[in-house]
Parts: sequence; C-alpha cells; structure tokens
Amino acid sequence: MKIIAVGWNYTAHNKELGHTPLPAEPVIFMKPDTALLRDNKPFFLPDFSDDVQYETEVIVRIGKMGKNIAEKFAYRYYDSIGLGIDFTARDLQRKFKTEGLPWELCKGFDNSAPISEFLPKENFADLNNLSFSLQINGETVQHGNTKDMIFKIDALIAYISRFFTLKVGDIIFTGTPAGVGPVKINDHIVACLEGKIMLDFYVY
Ligand code: MG
Repeated sequence: MKIIAVGWNYTAHNKELGHTPLPAEPVIFMKPDTALLRDNKPFFLPDFSDDVQYETEVIVRIGKMGKNIAEKFAYRYYDSIGLGIDFTARDLQRKFKTEGLPWELCKGFDNSAPISEFLPKENFADLNNLSFSLQINGETVQHGNTKDMIFKIDALIAYISRFFTLKVGDIIFTGTPAGVGPVKINDHIVACLEGKIMLDFYVY
C-alpha cells in the first residue's frame, strides 16, 4: 500500500508557515508504508531532527482500485475515514525548501504516520463538515473542520488518480489545519474526530 499526503490544504495553516498564495492545484507527496504507526504505539523522536512537529489530518482509506477517477464518482473509491498525524521534521523541511530539494526524508521517515482505526464513511452525515482536534497534555492545540479544506476529498481523489493508480488499502492524508507545533518527550497526544477519541499515544 501507499500513503499519499496533501500539503497546503488549509488556508490558515498555509499562512502560519508563510505560504500565502492559494495553491492552484493540490500539493502531493508520499510516505512509504514503513511510516505507519498503528494501535496507539508510542512515537519515538528520531535523532536527526530537533523540531519534529505534529500535523493532525483526516485520513481516507481507498476501498476500490481506480485510475483517472471522475470527481463525481470519487465517493465510490473510498470506504472509510480516520485521523492521522503527519509528523514532520520541520528543521529538515525548512532546509529542503530553501535548497529546492524533495521532502521524503522530513516527511516519510519511520513511524512518521500514526493512524487511527478507520470508521465507515456512512457513519458521517457530511464528510465536508467533519470537526477534528488535537490535544497535547490536555491542552487543545489544533482544531479543524474539513469544510475549510481548499481541495475537498472527492477533488483530491480525482486529482491524485490522474497520476497514481489508487489501490485498495491506500491511505490519503488530506492536510492539516492551523496550529502545528513541536512535540517533546513525554507528550501525551490525543486526537478526536467528531468528538470521538481516535488517537491516544505518547511521545518518547
Ligand atoms: Mg501534512
């Protein structure tokens, strides 16, 4: 399986990182399957970064193989929704951006993609109005709503599938809202989707 992630998909987050022009097309990158961290296992800070930051994101699981999917049929190709953290080595990313280099090392390192269980998409009345939040040590640091996504889920599926065949089990990280920041040792991370706790793990 593959993990496809979207950058710059919430205007307020783009502003906080100094990326002000609206993207004309989705910004896409990938993480390898070795980035996955499941079952609320602890996240161990890597030794190559002094600024690993959380990005809380709604994630979408592909349920049917597809290529060149029309936006109006995109809903047929995903079956469930969850939450993930797109851990990012921000110090490395700053360096790569400055030098015009690719993002894989700062975004795709081992365990950089903790994911929750997936819930059937039918459980939700409107996928374009899902609230989600992140608490660290009991304090809310991020809260977002999918209605604020610049490119919505169906548009992302259509766009991504022009370039990559989507296969059953692939996961799409749909971008983070504002409020990103660093994690440190002993942080307790709790992420909620529509009020339900989806992720609950520690940083070591
Ligand atoms: Mg992200």
